[in-house]
Amino acid sequence: MNYAYQVSKIESFIVHYTQKPDFQISDVLENPKHKFKQSAYHLFYELIKFKKAYIHQQPNPMGELFSLIRKSFYRSDEIQNVALQMVEGWWVEWYFASIMEQKISSDKSDMPLSYLSKNILNPMRKHELSHYAKLFTNLPMPICNVCANTGDILKVNQRFVDVFGYSVNEVPNLKAWWKKAYPDPEYRDFVKKLWQESLDVANENNNDIPANTYKVSCRDGSQILMEVSGINIGEEFIAVFNDATERMKAEDILRDMAFLDALTRIANRRRFDEKLIQEFERARDINGILSIILIDIDLFKQFNDRYGHMAGDACLYDVAQEIASTVSRPEDFVARYGGEEFVVLLPQTDKQGALFIAEQIEKAIENLAIVHEDSYSGLLSLSMGINTIENNDTEGHSSFVKGADNALYYAKRQGRNCIALAKK
Ligand code: GH3
Ligand code: MG
Ligand code: MG
Repeated sequence: MNYAYQVSKIESFIVHYTQKPDFQISDVLENPKHKFKQSAYHLFYELIKFKKAYIHQQPNPMGELFSLIRKSFYRSDEIQNVALQMVEGWWVEWYFASIMEQKISSDKSDMPLSYLSKNILNPMRKHELSHYAKLFTNLPMPICNVCANTGDILKVNQRFVDVFGYSVNEVPNLKAWWKKAYPDPEYRDFVKKLWQESLDVANENNNDIPANTYKVSCRDGSQILMEVSGINIGEEFIAVFNDATERMKAEDILRDMAFLDALTRIANRRRFDEKLIQEFERARDINGILSIILIDIDLFKQFNDRYGHMAGDACLYDVAQEIASTVSRPEDFVARYGGEEFVVLLPQTDKQGALFIAEQIEKAIENLAIVHEDSYSGLLSLSMGINTIENNDTEGHSSFVKGADNALYYAKRQGRNCIALAKK
């Protein structure tokens, strides 16, 4: 293509501006709305915009145009060379935005970039848009552009499609998104409410939409935990999705570690203390029943003395795991209470039920048949104390545990390897 006309226009434009006595490159760099920059955009509009042929031309005519200018325009004047480089940079970006605008106006079904239709004649705005468009496309996290008034999803980026599997055609508006991403109606209501609250906070403070974690269902049926926040841009907002799965996993592991006994791999005393208060209060609230079994290994000091501390540790692990697998209802709870002592909490279980569980534990340990030559039976055994609170008992949780401890002490005095119930 012959660019002679454009080349001479651009040359005289640069000469005209750079020869002005007050022209400073630093002023242009510091002031994004500098007259030189604005005029450069207007010149682009005049030379390129009305010639649609340029827009569809492949390859990008900007490269060809500016290489011609550089050839004919070689000057020793450093300021003019820098000014030319600047103009080239702005035009390349603006050309990018023009291409996008053309694509959109020629394909009405794909009208997501509604912002391009607004203020399109403002050349400065257009420059900002080219940055925005690049950023939107390339961000490595899912984002979507939503019209706040209609709830239309105007555009999603590639990462959004890759992660969730939905294209903008499948989720054209928030209504469709809620339905697909949160198929469980109850959870959907919760999510909608939480999102609305976040929007209200953002509107009240004229700020961005604060982050909350949501469980999003993908097209392939998998679920991902996403921390969703939003950036307010007037009548539109951009929802930003951060994958929270890994963070939540790490938090779960840390929480488990804090509550897990390192040797026996069951809950530790700290967890028991928490759980006791929770279960105790729940039982009180519903006028329900709660049972506790305190378990102590018989003559364990002698076991250690005879077989060594390592064998003692292995034995503690086996006993803990055996108790945990015997007590199998999800609401039941097993923890290591102390050295060779364990505790079981049984919600909604009366004295008889607790006694039954204690006998199951006794049998399970008998079946393990851990040799203990210093015990009466020749095998490792347990002593247990049981306490139960029922309906209108008024004792507190520490005396509830104390009751079980007294019963355990009684069982020991009875000769060990037995179960005792707390006196009422
Ligand atoms: P009793 O039948 O009266 O309960 O006798 P016992 O020997 O089991 O009771 P005591 O409380 O005197 O001893 C408990 C022993 O448990 C003392 C200690 O050596 C052992 N023990 C506590 N914690 C651990 C542990 O983590 N590993 C090992 N190997 N032994 C432990
Ligand atoms: Mg003990
Ligand atoms: Mg003991």
